[in-house]
Amino acid sequence: MKTRIALIAHDKKKDDMILLAGQYRDFLASCDLVATGTTGGRLANELGLTVDRKHSGPFGGDLQIGAMLVQGEIDCVIFLRDPMTPQPHEPDINALVRACDVHNTPCATNVSSAHLVLSQLQLRATAA
Ligand code: PGA
Repeated sequence: MKTRIALIAHDKKKDDMILLAGQYRDFLASCDLVATGTTGGRLANELGLTVDRKHSGPFGGDLQIGAMLVQGEIDCVIFLRDPMTPQPHEPDINALVRACDVHNTPCATNVSSAHLVLSQLQLRATAA
């Protein structure tokens, strides 16, 4: 089964997300990807990835991804949060991160941890 990865980046972290995803592009292309609207649009347009695009984060995209996760449809979340900017959908963000903790799903919230998670998943996929 393909690895199912959710990708979300706040506005000031979207360039970091594109850089990060570009470094794992071939691996990510072999995965089932879901993303919030704007993040997903950039991943598709700039990296040519096929992405299931949900609503934009402030319009409920994080909650849609959270619901998928609760249903067991997501293996890992890469969520590049901006800790310096207040977000209108803070409760949704907390709900998604909480759902990851409730369901023991890996959730990388910064670039360093995202590298650790993605490199490990990539390694596992090559070994399989
Ligand atoms: P976006 O949503 O990818 O649609 O910008 C991300 C967020 O703000 O949670």
